[in-house]
Amino acid sequence: MTSVPTLGPLRVAKVMARLGIAESKRTAGLGSRQRSELWNYLLNREGGVAPGRLVVMAGPTAVGKGSVSACIRENYAEIYLSVSATTRPPRPGEIDGVHYYFVRDDEFDRMIETRELLEWAVVHNSFRYGTPRPPIDAALEAGKNVLLEIDLQGARTVKGELPSAILVFLLPPSWEELVRRLTGRGTEDPADQARRLETARVELAAQDEFDYRVVNTEVAAAAREVVELTALPSHRP
Ligand code: 5GP
Repeated sequence: MTSVPTLGPLRVAKVMARLGIAESKRTAGLGSRQRSELWNYLLNREGGVAPGRLVVMAGPTAVGKGSVSACIRENYAEIYLSVSATTRPPRPGEIDGVHYYFVRDDEFDRMIETRELLEWAVVHNSFRYGTPRPPIDAALEAGKNVLLEIDLQGARTVKGELPSAILVFLLPPSWEELVRRLTGRGTEDPADQARRLETARVELAAQDEFDYRVVNTEVAAAAREVVELTALPSHRP
């Protein structure tokens, strides 16, 4: 049930309680009344609105994922951009609830325990980042297309949980350009830069796991390409 987009574990628990079905039941073990009630629920739950598409954008460090998602946030209000929870402190200019939900470790633990997160990961060996599932289910159910900008581990987890998600890999125009972007932003010291370049090399090797690739030569054009992918029909040719 939870691999149906829009049906997170919390909602599944509520629906199962309403239908009088134990959560641990497998479909093969259902009685005929339970089976038909569950089937009716699945057929009728959308209330006539086609569910939105879930698109996951990932890519190597410094490729410009943040700029592309900021461009989408500012110019494409029709896309629901997921706001992640993180244990890292805010940077100057970052707003709680807009860029991230900045939470303490114990709050993040609680979100994991209550199964509120679709996925979570420790990124760059430091802080935890996770995708709250209830707002995503609500947006998809209302017919909105949803975009997640998360790391590679997160993208893999989402595909495992929701196989209908579309994975988009953001690429730099070239390796040299990626090096230039990483060293040019001046926020990391040389040792950290070297570590991130090594990470980027490993991350680039994962591009074949993705459904689509978008080259980020120019932010606005890459953002448009990603948005266009959300409008594609459900099944790739
Ligand atoms: P930053 O701290 O620079 O905003 O983000 C660091 C990394 O965390 C980026 O690669 C970003 O894609 C990733 N990230 C942001 N939110 C999430 C999330 O909810 N889940 C996962 N797995 N990664 C995330």
